[in-house]
Amino acid sequence: MKTIGLIGGMSWESTQTYYKLINEGVRDRLGGLHSAKIHMVSVDFHEIAEQQYSGRWDDMGVTLGDAAKTLEDSGADVVLICTNTMHKVYDAVQAAVNVPVLHIADATGDAIKPAGVKSVILLGTRYTMEMEFYKDRLAEKFGLTVLTPEKADRDEVHRIIYDELVQGKVLDASRDRLLEIIRSLQAQGGEGVIAGCTEIGLLVQQEQLDVPLFDTAVIHAHAAVEVSFQ
Ligand code: GLU
Repeated sequence: MKTIGLIGGMSWESTQTYYKLINEGVRDRLGGLHSAKIHMVSVDFHEIAEQQYSGRWDDMGVTLGDAAKTLEDSGADVVLICTNTMHKVYDAVQAAVNVPVLHIADATGDAIKPAGVKSVILLGTRYTMEMEFYKDRLAEKFGLTVLTPEKADRDEVHRIIYDELVQGKVLDASRDRLLEIIRSLQAQGGEGVIAGCTEIGLLVQQEQLDVPLFDTAVIHAHAAVEVSFQ
């Protein structure tokens, strides 16, 4: 079993999900007292969120690249950036290390393909929904049509993430709002939903939807377990 390196804290609310799912995945495979070999560097999300807001992506690439290097030096065989948004600096992080950095959008694309979904709704931070790094990767590598909410709804999804979910607030009214936004995009042809922020799964689950939900935190954590046994 390989050692998994996690760059966490963005936010720690969803890093907990990774930690739990990866350990459960190893227990399911090996049974008994087995648990995952995990190394983690966890950042202060306040600092990252400020840099996101002011567009200092190069600085964040250095910070997360350093984190990846720390993990590699400590013996991690594979690294995960435990957030969708910060895959904006994926190339800088991968360039900082020799071990593979498992891309969250690739793991998600791999999970969507067998489900037969071609047109998919993407919910995430404003950065993930509006910048090219995520949507284009899904379109170019996996042939997906990616639908995002209109501007006012994107702002609302972003607000729910930063004002509520990353602070551990899970509110029924926000769940209703997200479900309403999802339904309006289903009416435009959306056949599935990417929970493209690792905290969205805290609010919206499969049983509330009548189309498949692709929860990126779950998919990414499961992909890490797969890789750790290859
Ligand atoms: N965890 C979120 C994501 O998956 C948002 C926090 C962040 O900006 O990294 O994008």
